[in-house]
Amino acid sequence: MNIPFLDLKSQYKNLKEDIDKAIQEVIENTAFIGGKPVQKFKEDFEEVYGVSHCVPLANGTDALYVSMMMLGVGAGDEVITTASSWISTSETISQTGATPVFVDVDEYYTLDASKLEAAITPKTKGIIPVHLYGQMADLDHIMEIAKKHDLFVIEDCAQAHMSEYKGVRAGLTGITGTFSFYPGKNLGAYGDAGCLITESEEMATHCKRFANHGALVKHQHDIEGINSRLDGIQAAVLSVKLPYLEEWTQRRVEVASWYNQKLAEVSEIELPKLRPETVHSYHVFAIKTDKRDELKSFLGDKNVPTQIHYPHAMPFMKAYAHMGATVEDFPNAYDLQERELSLPIFPEMTEEQVDEVCNQIKAFFAAE
Ligand SMILES: *Cc1c(COP(=O)(O)O)cnc(C)c1O
Repeated sequence: MNIPFLDLKSQYKNLKEDIDKAIQEVIENTAFIGGKPVQKFKEDFEEVYGVSHCVPLANGTDALYVSMMMLGVGAGDEVITTASSWISTSETISQTGATPVFVDVDEYYTLDASKLEAAITPKTKGIIPVHLYGQMADLDHIMEIAKKHDLFVIEDCAQAHMSEYKGVRAGLTGITGTFSFYPGKNLGAYGDAGCLITESEEMATHCKRFANHGALVKHQHDIEGINSRLDGIQAAVLSVKLPYLEEWTQRRVEVASWYNQKLAEVSEIELPKLRPETVHSYHVFAIKTDKRDELKSFLGDKNVPTQIHYPHAMPFMKAYAHMGATVEDFPNAYDLQERELSLPIFPEMTEEQVDEVCNQIKAFFAAE
């Protein structure tokens, strides 16, 4: 049985006619940068996601950088983020001139709000929780602490399209929510793409201007900015896919529920815990086991592809070696890097494919 880690090919096959037509139209109209397709995706995303302002950008990393720059983050500031994420979250803090400060993760693999206040100093300007794997961070507690200390909150939603916390979608609680449409994300373009969302018209305008060389109107550069534009072909592809996002998310939740049922009896595995009152969008289905590396290699031999998200928690990366982090400082992030294994999950995944993955996992532990 062929089991891909994620199946972008069958997704394309299902939408081929519409996607090909949308791309062809962009080429025929030579609307490569800006123009109708980008404006259309912006409006489509605002409507589908239920947000006042979407600012399309070149990628999800820029969405973090642009947000922080427009909140005035710079040299001498500190921004707190989670120890377990993709490096975009912390490298963009450094890009602004500020210093990233890491906080360990909780049992849901997101920023541990109970350890947050200890990390706050007079230099702290804001907090960037990451809804890692599609699981919402502890937003109520994070927002409460942010309010108390007058700090901004940017939600990194790169893995959390359509996730919900107490009925509110990811990205609608912080001053901005930042999204990636990297091809493998839950809503993926055919190249790099991203956006930020906000309820603040002022913030949307500032971010839009900064991302477009500091100009809202051509040749009127109010400030210096950067070049971070969503291109027309990516916008057109995203507009074709967007109407399916809700259904794809439900399919991921169903696939996750199959895994949870079928693996419940395997005592050597820790299944992902679901934070109460949230909707997990399962960008990643992350299990933990002491035999992670052996299991990964066994499954690989049986044509079951798996990944590790991520082999190095951020404080333990070479890039941050100067911080001198120890395992005792980040025990949960360290445990995750040592024991996490990501199983195949994608909306088109069948129950037979899930059975095959689970049966191979059971075969591995039976032979141990
Ligand atoms: C993918 C990702 C990003 C960056 O998105 P790009 O579009 O690749 O720049 C940021 N944060 C997290 C948590 C991500 O997973």
